[in-house]
Amino acid sequence: KELAADKIDTKVAGLEKSKPILYSLLCKTFDKIEQESSRLKIIEIVSEFFFEVLQNSPESLVTIIYLSINKLGPDYDNLELGLGETLLIKSICESTGRSTATIKANYKETGDLGSIAQTSRSRQSLMFKPKPLTIETVFKNLKEIAESTGSASQSKKIGIIVRMLSSCNGVEAKFLIRSLEGKLRIGLADKSILLALAKSLLSFEYQKQGKNYNKIDPSLISDAELQIKDTFNQVSNYEVIIKAAMEHGVLNLKDNVSLQPGIPLKPMLAKPTKAITEILDKFSNTNFTCEYKYDGERAQIHLLSDGKVKIYSRNSEDMTERYPDLIQALSNFIKPGKSVKSLILDSEAVAWDRVDKKILPFQVLTTRKRKDVKLEDIKVQICVFAFDLLCLNDEPLIHKPFNERRAIMMDHLQITPGQFQFATYKNLENIEEIQQFLDQSIKDSCEGLMIKLMSSTYEPSQRSSNWLKLKKDYLQDIGDSIDLVCLGGYHGKGKRTGKYGGFLLGCYNPDSGEYETTCKIGTGFSDEDFASLSEKLVGTVISQPKTYYRYDKDNSKSSPDVWFEPNLVFEIRTADLSLSPVYKTGADKYGKGISLRFPRFIRLRDDKGPEDSTSPDQIIELYESQVNI
Ligand code: ATP
Repeated sequence: KELAADKIDTKVAGLEKSKPILYSLLCKTFDKIEQESSRLKIIEIVSEFFFEVLQNSPESLVTIIYLSINKLGPDYDNLELGLGETLLIKSICESTGRSTATIKANYKETGDLGSIAQTSRSRQSLMFKPKPLTIETVFKNLKEIAESTGSASQSKKIGIIVRMLSSCNGVEAKFLIRSLEGKLRIGLADKSILLALAKSLLSFEYQKQGKNYNKIDPSLISDAELQIKDTFNQVSNYEVIIKAAMEHGVLNLKDNVSLQPGIPLKPMLAKPTKAITEILDKFSNTNFTCEYKYDGERAQIHLLSDGKVKIYSRNSEDMTERYPDLIQALSNFIKPGKSVKSLILDSEAVAWDRVDKKILPFQVLTTRKRKDVKLEDIKVQICVFAFDLLCLNDEPLIHKPFNERRAIMMDHLQITPGQFQFATYKNLENIEEIQQFLDQSIKDSCEGLMIKLMSSTYEPSQRSSNWLKLKKDYLQDIGDSIDLVCLGGYHGKGKRTGKYGGFLLGCYNPDSGEYETTCKIGTGFSDEDFASLSEKLVGTVISQPKTYYRYDKDNSKSSPDVWFEPNLVFEIRTADLSLSPVYKTGADKYGKGISLRFPRFIRLRDDKGPEDSTSPDQIIELYESQVNI
């Protein structure tokens, strides 16, 4: 009810048909969003804005989306913003005429370069008024900045920023600087954008057909949301989706967009289990299969019809240049006589010892270079363990049951020992056999088992109960490790003096866009860990907690000595979860938060961004399965 459009002032008047959209209008919308705490209202504001854009300048919608989520293209373009404070301070000084010392002092006080840029600007009167910024100019400039490398790039970047800053008015400078830092953080992520997109596209269709777009049947809106979310999980590219929706109608998206080699899909994920009996309970009377769970790096391998090969990470980033060895060998993995022009294969790339013919630990894989890898320089060899085939010769297979997909995969591809193998599997039924297979997997240097329902389709992006993970190391614990974001630090004492000796951790809530505190941790770190983490964190210190941190302000336990930008993700092990009044994870559900008891640091998850942490919902689920709620 709260959502009735007439109750909310969501309109940002000012868009004019076929005229370039002014950056100030987008920033006005950002400002509204930032002042709003209700997720539903935020989505309503964004959807209204998109609707206006669709009516006046539909070709700008994709640019607007990227500017709103602080990206420069799809994740697999690997183009990132994240300029350092030194460069930004220099640019602010140059454009405002204020001294570095003043800006630095202000920054120390407020921790917000965006607001400093805004207030510094408004103090400066200009001789003549520069042309206002348009969204296209800003986007083009941001891209140019992100793409420029090399020694001369520094002054080029400053030049572009200074030019843009001199055209900024009001809140524009604030949002521009934050975008350049890669810290726009107005609480918009893919999830909200997709919902807003569904509603605005549907309203636009209604309007074009002369129907009342203020009275759309809610079930049709839900259908549009579902179709947009589903297709985005399969084809993570806004441009492709918006184009298809405009051409075929948003309610016909599913029939018109599907997997495309060259565009990564969001991988299917598994749910943790604590015991073999749990698997038998969950999969009783159904056929399932047990596969080795390899401990490497997920690799989604795409062969395109033009012969190109692309490899994408768990987070849809393009990591093709990391694996020239795999690209060179891929054609050998296709069975002779089989016609394979294109494919999408799901697999795990694992470090491999070619002399002793065995899997090497995950840590060895991480020593491989990540950029500009040359074939001749490769020291750590990999073996790819394929476990699913998602698309073959441009035909999507994800809707077929797993046993069929596996059969098609094995029928078209062949093993090259030590380079390309299928995940070892057994179709087992009783506890003893599964236990033995689990033990064997550990002897063979795996993490445990993946248990998959034979009849299950491939569910992109879903943490599905049709895939269960059984990690040997965590069977006594809660079944899995937890990935949390480092939000604060405590000054170390004794041996740890001069470094951080403990950390406040939290998890990202994708529904609210907030970080909810989960626990304090000081165990499991080596001296080297403390030193390297302190070094990494020092540049991310902020003078105040972010407005989107949920923590108990009155409790010293959850008020660290220093706050950090959300940046590093720690993988944590815990014996169990318990309710605690001090922390905020899951507090909406239980009144108290769910916290980790005796948490231990395992390692940094540098393949995960802060928004990929374990979610509050997952932690609630782990807690509930532990107390059998
Ligand atoms: P999350 O915690 O978000 O589930 P994660 O990256 O921490 O993800 P795990 O939970 O440990 O990963 O387990 C799922 C991962 O296991 C997959 O993403 C994949 O990389 C890896 N994996 C290894 N072997 C298999 C297999 N046979 N089938 C599916 N995934 C496998």
